[in-house]
Amino acid sequence: MRIGIGHDTHRLGPDRPLILGGLKIEHPRGLVGHSDADVVLHALTDALLGAAGLGDIGDAYPDTDPKYKDCDSRVFVVESLQRIKDKGYRLVNVDLTIFAQEPKLGPIKARMREHLAAMLGLPVDAVNVKAKTGEKVGAIGRAEAIGCHVAVLIDTI
Ligand code: MG
Repeated sequence: MRIGIGHDTHRLGPDRPLILGGLKIEHPRGLVGHSDADVVLHALTDALLGAAGLGDIGDAYPDTDPKYKDCDSRVFVVESLQRIKDKGYRLVNVDLTIFAQEPKLGPIKARMREHLAAMLGLPVDAVNVKAKTGEKVGAIGRAEAIGCHVAVLIDTI
């Protein structure tokens, strides 16, 4: 068995859709980045790549590459999962924490969990989604950014 961890933070800005965990969420501001800036899927991609010793999301999907402009970040997750399988591993479970002062994520955690489980081909029980505010401290607490931590476990097929 091997473990992987991932972390990401993106700034919130105007005139952007808010995409989190592959879901479009109604909110006046969205995350700013080269791709769709889905902070959850970026941290998940890094955790997957890390578990299999495959480097990081910046190596695999450079933000200088025009191919990834406004890209759907589900592509990064699905491709990274395939690379893990190609190395002879399967994903066992995912545990993640989203740090957001706003929007309130309590009402969408269950939907995100189901969406991620379907994307990863895992039972819902093997994907856990937690949410915390920034307690009004720092950039996340001022609702200037959203962050995410992810841990994954992989095992030989
Ligand atoms: Mg990112």
